[in-house]
Amino acid sequence: MPIPVKVMVVGIARFAVQHAGKVDDISVESWVYPQNRAEGFYDYAIAVKVLDYFHRNIGAYPFKKLANVQSKTRWGGLENAGAIFYSESSVNGKGDHEGLIAHEEAHQWFGNSASENDWHHVWLSEGFATYFANLYLEHAYGRDRLVKEQLLDRDQVIKYYQKNPAPIVDTTLTDISKVLSTNTYQKAGWVLHMLRHKVGDADFWKGIRQYYATYQKSNAMTVDFKRTMETATGKDLTLFFDQWLYEGGQPKITGTWRYDAKTSQVLLEISQVQPGIYFRFPLDLKMVGRDGKTHIQTIQIDSKTSKTSLIVPFIPKELTLDPDIWLLFEGNLVKK
Ligand SMILES: [Zn+2]
Repeated sequence: MPIPVKVMVVGIARFAVQHAGKVDDISVESWVYPQNRAEGFYDYAIAVKVLDYFHRNIGAYPFKKLANVQSKTRWGGLENAGAIFYSESSVNGKGDHEGLIAHEEAHQWFGNSASENDWHHVWLSEGFATYFANLYLEHAYGRDRLVKEQLLDRDQVIKYYQKNPAPIVDTTLTDISKVLSTNTYQKAGWVLHMLRHKVGDADFWKGIRQYYATYQKSNAMTVDFKRTMETATGKDLTLFFDQWLYEGGQPKITGTWRYDAKTSQVLLEISQVQPGIYFRFPLDLKMVGRDGKTHIQTIQIDSKTSKTSLIVPFIPKELTLDPDIWLLFEGNLVKK
């Protein structure tokens, strides 16, 4: 099958090799330095479980075998087709590189088989590998683990933006080494996370499978992914793609909330104060009452500043934005 040149590789060394397991008829192998044999076989064995998850959920694994190889690479990992290279230090006997293994394995589908047609669209590889690694961790360890990863990524995105306000698809970049960034990894991963929330799990996976089935062993651009997701979900995603992929930044929310006893309503004044465009998005609000009762309500934000009133079944003493970690944003509301 055709393989992008960026993921062709040759490596020569003495190796200890273990057949770690099989997924259908795909052999998963660990290739490590003989002196690291015990630790390496232990660390790389998890690759079988990761491959099984992607193979069953995205589509059939595209290559005949998968070797996970300890190597000299300047990267933490490099997703060469069917022969992933990991840094020498990825082997330590602690099994603490599961997220990295999942990232590189996700690339076998996104990047090595369905590959971007242009470097400016590299988020179709790196954002996918980033988010699918998080999806694997959610599958393996539960939703709390996904939330932990998304929060770490969100912090990075917000910090990165302060120095680099460019969009994910930045066609003004001429130094192509710069396309690998927090934008094309963590922010793009966040875009997929928000897309999943927007369309729901079932349609998200339907769209992903359809995208992979259509563009496997081939190339795609952002517009191809958008079109496929729209067909799969029946939703117009133009605004979503425009603001999150072709514009820089994310909402920075400030404002106030208070409970109005006369009308038994919560009154909110919300502003987006980031430079550049204002965003349109659903905002989840969690309110907590005196006795620990909670109430979650979603409002739609469609302007730079807005006033909203909500009927709440109790008097809230606390209000939290985005309690379930579905929105890329910063800021909060102050109680008035
Ligand atoms: Zn990657």
